[in-house]
Amino acid sequence: MNETIALLIRVQGRVQGVGFRPFVYRLATHHRINGWIMNRNDAVMIKIEGEADRLPFFVEDLRNHAPVAAQIDEITVDNDFPENLHDFRILDSQDLSDDTSEISPDIAVCPDCLDDLKKQPCRLDYPFINCTNCGPRFSIIRDFPYDRNKTTMSNFSMCRTCRTEYDTMSDRRFHAQPIACNACGPQYTLHAGGRKEEDFAAILSAVVSFIGEGKIIAVKGLGGFHLMCDAHNHHAVTRLRAVKKREGKPFAVMFRDLPSAREYARVSEEETAALESWIRPIVLLESKKKMPGGVCLGLNTLGAFLPYMPFHYLLFEKLDTDALVLTSGNFAGEPIVIDNDAALGTLRTEVDAVLTYNRDIFNRSDDSVVRVIGGKDRVTRRSRGYVPSPVRVSMDVDGILATGAELSNCFCIGKGNHAILSQHIGDLKNAETYAFYTETIGRFQKLYRMNPSLLAVDMHPDYLSTRYGEDQGVAVIGVQHHHAHIAACMAEYGLDESVIGVCFDGTGYGTDGNIWGSEFMIAGLDDFRRYAHFDYMQLPGGDKVSAETWRTGLSLLFKAYGRDFLNLDLPFVRNLDKKVITLVTEALEKRINTPLSSGCGRLFDGVAAITGLCTHASFHAEGPMRLESALAHGISDRYEADKGKPMCFDSIIRQIVQDLMQKTPVPVISARFHNSIIWAIFETVGKMRHETGITKVVLTGGSFQNKYLAEGIISLLSREEMKPYLASKIPCNDGGIALGQLMVAARQREKTKK
Ligand code: ZN
Ligand code: ZN
Ligand code: FE
Repeated sequence: MNETIALLIRVQGRVQGVGFRPFVYRLATHHRINGWIMNRNDAVMIKIEGEADRLPFFVEDLRNHAPVAAQIDEITVDNDFPENLHDFRILDSQDLSDDTSEISPDIAVCPDCLDDLKKQPCRLDYPFINCTNCGPRFSIIRDFPYDRNKTTMSNFSMCRTCRTEYDTMSDRRFHAQPIACNACGPQYTLHAGGRKEEDFAAILSAVVSFIGEGKIIAVKGLGGFHLMCDAHNHHAVTRLRAVKKREGKPFAVMFRDLPSAREYARVSEEETAALESWIRPIVLLESKKKMPGGVCLGLNTLGAFLPYMPFHYLLFEKLDTDALVLTSGNFAGEPIVIDNDAALGTLRTEVDAVLTYNRDIFNRSDDSVVRVIGGKDRVTRRSRGYVPSPVRVSMDVDGILATGAELSNCFCIGKGNHAILSQHIGDLKNAETYAFYTETIGRFQKLYRMNPSLLAVDMHPDYLSTRYGEDQGVAVIGVQHHHAHIAACMAEYGLDESVIGVCFDGTGYGTDGNIWGSEFMIAGLDDFRRYAHFDYMQLPGGDKVSAETWRTGLSLLFKAYGRDFLNLDLPFVRNLDKKVITLVTEALEKRINTPLSSGCGRLFDGVAAITGLCTHASFHAEGPMRLESALAHGISDRYEADKGKPMCFDSIIRQIVQDLMQKTPVPVISARFHNSIIWAIFETVGKMRHETGITKVVLTGGSFQNKYLAEGIISLLSREEMKPYLASKIPCNDGGIALGQLMVAARQREKTKK
């Protein structure tokens, strides 16, 4: 006879709020096993008892068939005493200690729920339908453990039908915390022309006619408000650009489905997978056909995403257009609006209608942005769907808060061996964004029960994030910007050794007081050695160069030709105001307010200006983006660098000027310039490998969001049997550096303890 035994199983990872408990219940029923399951704040605990030879199959299925959004990091199985249990139960959650388990990110509505929308009497066309496999999570959670009363669903009491499903272990909505239906759940309200509409069918048809008429509507989404209009309507898109103020950026477009997206963009297999994943990020695609609304502003990329809320699907069913601009509801650098009151105040005056619903968004999150580079998805803005998934690291990072950079800020907290990056916060120089920053740090500390004992900050003394860190009254470790970039990528791939680090970005504070940004480093988590960098160039006017890219262009010409550049017969020089040229040239000569920079982004800015692609940037990194976008594919030649001075671009600038004077097409010039940069990296990395024997190469910094550059160097290095690493789940731009700061600080703390 088969002996009865008992096991106690502890599961860690993303296992709460992702349909894990009902899954385990169904599994137990299937295997005819008794026991219980319980959510604790630090893990999910499962006790099973049954015939000895049955239990291993249960454990195997547990590992291999978890729900789509679940991620099991660790399962520990211990022997336990049989208690003669008669059934399998789900026990109440327990809040045991300061340890916390993972919080699930928000999950796109699942196919089963889309099916139910058309079948279940109480949820016919109900726009807040969800189940244990889908729906809001991070955006509504106030505290741990993840139970309805700790979310913004707490105001809604379940009706009888929902309650029955919630209590029925075999139901797909068993313990689905945001469970709701037409009778008991949240509802939309449309505010337009001084009137309120609460009937959902009437709301849908009103929204459909507004969109048809080219109007702009503010719509409450999952992590914040969107501004929405027909992406094919040029007039509406132009007006939306005016409403957003200063925002010269291309808009992201939500397509009805994959075939509509395919009409306007090339979509590879990997990009399809990214578009259709439960995360549903905006995916940066190569555009194929111009969108009539002018959303791309002359760039050859198109930010596309697919519906992820039930409302999006219900709307597209009725709309004539197959594409909507859906851009974050905010103005110039402010955080995305989440409150109904704010939307009805600030947004309402700018748009034709506001669509709200009566459930609060607690944690703000933007749409995430992904680009597939080298066959792998690379997140560039990390928010909805990613946050707050932790990075598991091999070190104790507990109690450390890393405050991040100043632009595209994310901060990072350490909990045990989990590094948890915040959602995309934004540009801290904006006062509202700074308030969002401090508020979110407070919320993360509460949610994860952590009180920082060590702070990691950028070395830049004037970053607001650095000052914030220094004001907290605990020990502070300063981490060099590009070292942090490299360490962040190492953390994602679990590297803890000396690597070759290639970090290219716009600006970062260097230890010599100059602005760095084209760094070749031999680096580990503990330290770095600056091996090489591009020649310093002067930035006339300092910070002004980020918007006025012509200044950098002028500086590069001055560096290559001296005053003689004034005689060059170039449209770029001819088009500049003579007085301005004289002033800036004098400043360069006398070195007045011309800080030195080795920033790769600045070099791209300068070339974008000289070639006439971008003399004034209306958004961050416009110059480099235009230069990449203009590039002609299939060109393999490059400009030759000065002999013996591989890091000096003077000769390359002179060859670009010659090409321009000979009327070589700018796309060809751009390709040759890109190839020169790729070659400079390849040669330098080759030397570093030769000297050190290191073959692992970390590629990081915002410049590697450039697909041509990144793929070019990845393929060259791979051919030489070197191993390139480019971050995937962490942004390679400043949004990722908090993770690196955390790692470097943790290593320093570890060393002082020894
Ligand atoms: Zn669902
Ligand atoms: Zn209900
Ligand atoms: Fe950076």
